[in-house]
Amino acid sequence: MRNDANEGPRDWSQIARKLEPVEVIDDPVTVKKRSRDFFWYSPILNAQLRRSFGDLLLRPKTREELAHCLQVAHSEQIPVVLRGGGTGNYGQAVPLKGGLIIETTAMNRILEIGEGFVRVEAGALMADINTALAAEGWEMAMFPSTQDIATVGGFVAGGSAGIGSIANGPLRQKGNIVQLKALSVEAQPVEHVFDADAALQIHHAWGLNGAITEVTLRTVPSRDWVGCMIGFDSYLACYTAGFALASAPEETIGRKLCSVVDARIVDYFRRLEGYVPKGHHLVVTLVPREHMEALRALMATHGGVVHLAMSDAERAAAKLPHVFEFAYNHTTLQVLKSDRSATYQQIGVPDPSDAARVVAMRDRQGDDVWPHHEFTRVDGKVAVADLPIIWFRDAARLAEINATYEADGFTVYDAHVNVIEGNHMQPDYRHLAWKKRLDPKGLLNPGKSVEWEKVRHLPAEEIEALAGRGSAADDPS
Ligand SMILES: Cc1cc2nc3c(=O)[nH]c(=O)nc-3n(C[C@H](O)[C@H](O)[C@H](O)COP(=O)(O)OP(=O)(O)OC[C@H]3O[C@@H](n4cnc5c(N)ncnc54)[C@H](O)[C@@H]3O)c2cc1C
Repeated sequence: MRNDANEGPRDWSQIARKLEPVEVIDDPVTVKKRSRDFFWYSPILNAQLRRSFGDLLLRPKTREELAHCLQVAHSEQIPVVLRGGGTGNYGQAVPLKGGLIIETTAMNRILEIGEGFVRVEAGALMADINTALAAEGWEMAMFPSTQDIATVGGFVAGGSAGIGSIANGPLRQKGNIVQLKALSVEAQPVEHVFDADAALQIHHAWGLNGAITEVTLRTVPSRDWVGCMIGFDSYLACYTAGFALASAPEETIGRKLCSVVDARIVDYFRRLEGYVPKGHHLVVTLVPREHMEALRALMATHGGVVHLAMSDAERAAAKLPHVFEFAYNHTTLQVLKSDRSATYQQIGVPDPSDAARVVAMRDRQGDDVWPHHEFTRVDGKVAVADLPIIWFRDAARLAEINATYEADGFTVYDAHVNVIEGNHMQPDYRHLAWKKRLDPKGLLNPGKSVEWEKVRHLPAEEIEALAGRGSAADDPS
C-alpha cells in the first residue's frame, strides 16, 4: 500500500526533541498498550493487528501543541494515528505503519454549555461531559456505552449511535452534530470549521481526514431516568415487547435505551446475580420516572416481569453497573469476561416490526449464535440492529453465519475488517476529498482506506465528484 510516509529507520529521540514541548512517551510497554483498541473482540482482527505498534506516544495539552505534532509529522513524513480512549472495535486506532500515536485525552476542556448544545475539546470523556451537563439540567442527546473511557472526538470519528439514539437518532441525523473543528496535516496546520451537514464530511471517517480539535453536539433536557430490566419466557414475547416499547409515543413512554437480550447471554451477566433470575430473556431500558407505570402496564401485556427498576442513585448505592453496560457492545464484553472464545457480528434487521422473521432467524442460526437487538430511530422511524454473540469456531463458520443472515435479506456490517469501506459501507468520497485537502501526504491512519489508494492522485474536486456513487452508512455498534 502506497503512502508518502518515510518508512525507513528513524532517530526517534531526535524526533522527540523536535516535538518539544509536547509530552512524548517512548517507553515501549506504554506505546504498545496505546497501540491497541478493542479489536481483540474479533479473533480475525486479533491475528492481523496484535503485532502492529506505533513508535512514540504524544499527549498534546492544547490545540497549538496538537498543531505542532502534525507539523512535525508533515515535515518528517511520519504516519500519525489519532487516539481517544482506544475503545473502537475494528482496530480503527491501531497504527498499521508505526509512527506517532497522538492521544487527545489531555485536551479535555468543556468550553461552553448553552441552550441545547455543548462545545468541548475533542479529548473530553463523555461521562465528564454528562456530569457537567447534569449540573445545568442537560444531557448528551446520545452517548456510547463506553462513556467512562471514550472521548467525544473518538465517538464522532469512530462511533455511530448509542444510549439516546432510540429518542434522538444516530449521530449522523440532522442536528445531532452541531459543529466540528479539525486541523490539517500541513507545513502550517490549519483549523477548518464544519457546521451542521458539513460535519458529516469528518464524522465517522476514522481520523483519516483531519485531527478533530473541538466538537459541538446537541443536548436535551435531563430527566429522572430509571434503569429497568424486564424478564420474558420467550424471545418472541421479549422482542415483541421491545418493539412495542421502541414504537410507543414519546409522550406516553419516553426512553433512551431499548434493548432485547437473549436469555443465554443474560446467564453470563454475573453482576446481576440476586437481581435478575437466570433463564429469562430481557428487555433492558431507561425510562423517565413519570412513565414507569405506563412501562409496567405495557410490559405486563406481553407477559413481562419487572425484575429491576433503579434510579441512578439507587444503582450507585447498590454498586451495580449502569443498565446500558448490559446493552450495545457491552453485552459482548460481559460474555468475554467469562469466556474469550466469544465474538460478535453486526446485523441490520430488514423489518423491525416482523418479530416472526427475527425469531425464525434466531432458530435458523442455531446454538452458536445468540442475538441481542438494539432499537434506535432513524429520522423518526424505528430501526433495529442485532449484535449477536457468536461462539467462534473458524472463519469458514463465520462466513456461513453471515450467509445465513444475507440469504433472508438481513445486512451484515462485518465487524471483522479493518478498512473503513469494509463493514458493508460504500466508499465515502466526501471523506476522501477532505482527506486530500487536509492530509495531502496521506499520513493520517494509513492503510485504513482501500479507496483512498485508488483516488489519492486525483484533485479533491474530482474525488468529491465521485460522491454520487455512494456514501458511508454507519455501522450499528
Ligand atoms: C464495550 C464497548 C461498547 C461500545 N458501545 C458503543 C456504542 O454504544 N455506540 C458506538 O457508537 N460505539 C460503541 N463502541 C465503540 C467505541 O467505544 C465508541 O465509538 C467510542 O466513542 C470511541 O471513542 P474512543 O475515544 O475510544 O475512540 P478511539 O477508539 O480512540 O478512536 C476511534 C477512531 O476515532 C479516531 N479518532 C480519535 N480521536 C480523534 C480525533 N480527535 N480526531 C480525529 N480522529 C480521531 C481514531 O483514529 C479511530 O479511528 C463500543 C465499544 C466497546 C468496546
